[in-house]
Amino acid sequence: MKALIYNGPGDKSWAEAPQPQLLHPSDVIVRVDTTTICGTDLHILKGDVPAVQPGRILGHEGVGTVVETGTGVQELVVGDRVLISCIKSCGHCPNCRQGLYSHCLGEEGQSGIGWVFGHLIDGTQAEFVRVPYADNSLYRLPPGVSDVEAVMLSDILPTGFEIGVLSGGVKPGDVVAVIGAGPVGLAAIATAGLCGAGTIVAIDRDANRLAQALEFGATDTVDSQRPDWRQEVIDLTDGAGVDVSIEAVGLPETFAMALSLARPGGRVANVGVHGSSVDLPLQELWIQNISISMGLVNTNTTPMLLKLVAQHKIPAAKFATHTFSFDQVLEAYDTFARAAETKALKVIIT
Ligand code: NAD
Ligand code: ZN
Repeated sequence: MKALIYNGPGDKSWAEAPQPQLLHPSDVIVRVDTTTICGTDLHILKGDVPAVQPGRILGHEGVGTVVETGTGVQELVVGDRVLISCIKSCGHCPNCRQGLYSHCLGEEGQSGIGWVFGHLIDGTQAEFVRVPYADNSLYRLPPGVSDVEAVMLSDILPTGFEIGVLSGGVKPGDVVAVIGAGPVGLAAIATAGLCGAGTIVAIDRDANRLAQALEFGATDTVDSQRPDWRQEVIDLTDGAGVDVSIEAVGLPETFAMALSLARPGGRVANVGVHGSSVDLPLQELWIQNISISMGLVNTNTTPMLLKLVAQHKIPAAKFATHTFSFDQVLEAYDTFARAAETKALKVIIT
């Protein structure tokens, strides 16, 4: 089969790779029909994620068709159309029973991030993929949900919802600020609206991304390059500060921006992946009763989000801005990596 292979920092190829085989009774082999590219894939390609070694097939988002099932698989049959969750989880280890799918202990005693596709196991930017613990890691798709809508449930929608909106405790009427209107920030904006947020302020430095934020339900936008950007946000809260501040970029400066917006008693939900440490002004946070949350997506809300996508309550198809075929995958990466020029959000590969 053909697959997108990571050859080391700055080097990838669309090349022949061995057809994946069933290795465990709970495995399924899926023919990948639709996949997409995540910012994390670009981090891996730069060499920022040393756990990913040359030879790895990239990608952790996908929709496909079951072509082979292990002897222990109970929920799926050949021909099922499935959503591939970015996190693989056994569903019955102590961590999975707490809903911490991202920290599944698995049968081999591996933990956490090892079970994200395209990291320590081969990924979805390929014609076929092996899915461990398929009964818990794949979701059969209803006919009314398209591949393009469904693939947004592999990672970005559960991430924005679980780590931004749920961890941030968004409640009806809240004023929510979302810093970073990339796919993950837009997913937080769309799902904050479903939780009843009254005001949703999108903050970004890219005018196109701010325009897209309005399409996903932001009520206001603020350009963070303007010198008085913070005051503009505070003015939208009658001077109080925001109830929930969601960081969806992953930089020390945007984390500091998120902290600076919260009202006394407010909450800061950090979604961005930070490559380095950030300053925590504990004296100020303490006196203001600010709480901070963070974490790796669990994808345990996927079934509920899938229902909302099926009911068209989340505009999942709007994330897709470009479409390529598998053999144009390198062009797809180039389009995604130059998002500021190409206005790409999610690039579909089919
Ligand atoms: P993205 O790069 O597509 O979007 C980031 C947005 O932030 C862009 O629109 C950019 O213009 C904006 N931005 C950059 N610097 C800014 C600044 N100084 N001020 C204001 N805006 C700024 O990223 P994405 O795919 O949407 O992902 C967002 C973050 O979420 C990343 O850090 C990603 O690694 C992380 N993530 C976390 C999890 C998790 O489990 N917690 C899962 C997936 C992704
Ligand atoms: Zn588990």
